[in-house]
Amino acid sequence: MKILVATDKPFAKAATDGIRKITEEAGYELALLEKYTDVNDLYAAVADADAMIVRSDKVTQAVVDAAKQLKIVVRAGAGYDNLDLAACTARGIVAMNTPGQNSNAVAELALGMMVFMARNNFQPGTGSELKGKKLGIHAYGNVGKLVAHIAKGFGMEIYAFDPFVPADVMANEGVKAVASVEELYSTCNYISLHIPATPETKKSINYDLLSKMPKGGCLVNTARKEVIDEEGLAKLLEERTDLKYVTDIMPDSHAVLAEKFGARYFSTPKKMGAETAEANINAGLAAANQIVSFLKTGDKKFQVNK
Ligand code: NAD
Repeated sequence: MKILVATDKPFAKAATDGIRKITEEAGYELALLEKYTDVNDLYAAVADADAMIVRSDKVTQAVVDAAKQLKIVVRAGAGYDNLDLAACTARGIVAMNTPGQNSNAVAELALGMMVFMARNNFQPGTGSELKGKKLGIHAYGNVGKLVAHIAKGFGMEIYAFDPFVPADVMANEGVKAVASVEELYSTCNYISLHIPATPETKKSINYDLLSKMPKGGCLVNTARKEVIDEEGLAKLLEERTDLKYVTDIMPDSHAVLAEKFGARYFSTPKKMGAETAEANINAGLAAANQIVSFLKTGDKKFQVNK
């Protein structure tokens, strides 16, 4: 069986070496197609592949049509909007992502952003410490859990709201579950956002909710920009000169926010939460392991086109 790694932007060598080890030890052949500029090269390479690992490479209907033997495609990473799921499903190809592999990278960035805001964007002047402050984790999933874990090392008091995670699971990890999102925002000095963007959560972080934050509150967003009601946020930042917003997902109204709110607002120029060497390697190795597990045992745990 042939496993193809098709990466327009290649993995680091440590990742490809690891992928090779995992696949060859399982008795499969590994083929690499890296830095391809012509999509015809991808069509040719995938023609006799049984499995494929991609990064942000597009797996279109045409790729699926060319992949006569393909049984599984794995996007090494969390987001999988580069995979044409309908085309995969129609051909019976299992599509997967590798959730959780970049969570630590995102969690570290969230804490780094808190320090950055607490220290006046690294400008001269008296800042504040995270120790003893209340941190509210909004959604206790892969990233949220790791933020809680790291924040404990800073001596923060951790609260969380996640309707899908039982309170005793949080309590076992030293995290206080709160009963409502309103309680979380009114209790905590820092809120770290980790909700997915769904019809329910879109624009849910709005004026009313944010206005509950205590004096000097700081919202940290490493999740998605769609969950923020940008108009409501801007209105509140205007009224409450004590509040701060830091984000890894540049708002549509970035230029206005940057001009109006100076050091109380910061956005990374390009989403960088998952952009670490370690996260890329982890995702590549996870993709290889998931393919081997699927081919050997039929394990479809991370299938996204069920
Ligand atoms: P996850 O799926 O592991 O966790 C999401 C959590 O949200 C789950 O525990 C779920 O129960 C909870 N949840 C769902 N709806 C909720 C609601 N209405 N209220 C409260 N909780 C709710 O996801 P994750 O891997 O932890 O990722 C979290 C977020 O981070 C996502 O928005 C993802 O897009 C984003 N992300 C950003 C980067 C980056 O580069 N900045 C990288 C990876 C992920």
